[in-house]
Amino acid sequence: MKNRKENKVPECFFCGANEKLTKAHLFQQSFRDAVNVDSDEVSLAASSVEELGVYRDLLYSGDIRQANATSLCSGCNNGWMNDIEQAAGPVFTSIMNGDGFPPPAGLFKLAHWSVVVGALASELIPRLDIPVEHRRAIRFTRTGQPTEFSTHFVWTLDYLPSFEIDIVRFAGESDLEEPIRWCFVLHVGWLVIIVASPRFGAKVSRVLHGGGIHSVMGTISSNIVYLPQEARGASSGVLTPSHETVRELHSKLFASAKYLETKGRPVLDLNSAIGRTINDLAFDYGDTLIDMRDKLDLSYLTRAMS
Ligand SMILES: [Zn+2]
Repeated sequence: MKNRKENKVPECFFCGANEKLTKAHLFQQSFRDAVNVDSDEVSLAASSVEELGVYRDLLYSGDIRQANATSLCSGCNNGWMNDIEQAAGPVFTSIMNGDGFPPPAGLFKLAHWSVVVGALASELIPRLDIPVEHRRAIRFTRTGQPTEFSTHFVWTLDYLPSFEIDIVRFAGESDLEEPIRWCFVLHVGWLVIIVASPRFGAKVSRVLHGGGIHSVMGTISSNIVYLPQEARGASSGVLTPSHETVRELHSKLFASAKYLETKGRPVLDLNSAIGRTINDLAFDYGDTLIDMRDKLDLSYLTRAMS
């Protein structure tokens, strides 16, 4: 594969501005402080798959809490991104404290933050590139969740004292309008957050549903909360799976790829999925999609819209 990041003119990861770049922690302090972490050997796995099989399987080793993104202009870093972090931080802290489902407005803020962080995490892996149009869609969204990006939340049975991340990028059939897709999975504390780029969220829904996980809430498309029947009316997670169960389902998203043991946390190894198809699967949401637009609080987006 060629042409990845060959253009070295410095530009902001999200907005593309050519100006002095700043650095920022991938996880802003209130997020780092919200989790009791038991080890400094936290790993970030990143895999990239092309049509003909695995292109690269890469691992960022070290403590992700200390990782910095370095390609942000100060307008993004200190402006709209900061506002999203301020809005989502208390929601995240509340979940890490074991308070269960937040109200929909809080859930949307956290979903939005997840997409931002998921995309930005790819910057830590120099050769794992996500499409510029995706970054711009995230920067310039006016609706909170960028259009067609989805976030799934799974409340877990066990508390994971870590930030465990997998990013996977893959290319689908070349005749698709948008062949590059990616998926960001964060296991942390009482939660698994799965961010899917356009064209991949339905598969996440399907695999979770097929795995019997019903304590799932997610944002699908830009303004809809997906709330399965089983979870409606519940004030906290029901039928919550373990982190390990969610890892097994995550593997199914990518042709049952195997996990590798590392010094830190286990990471998905897409080499073990060589030659198998990672395809899109549709999912019938039935009547579980609820329009929650009137429940949104977008006041935190004032600077993003300016
Ligand atoms: Zn910028």
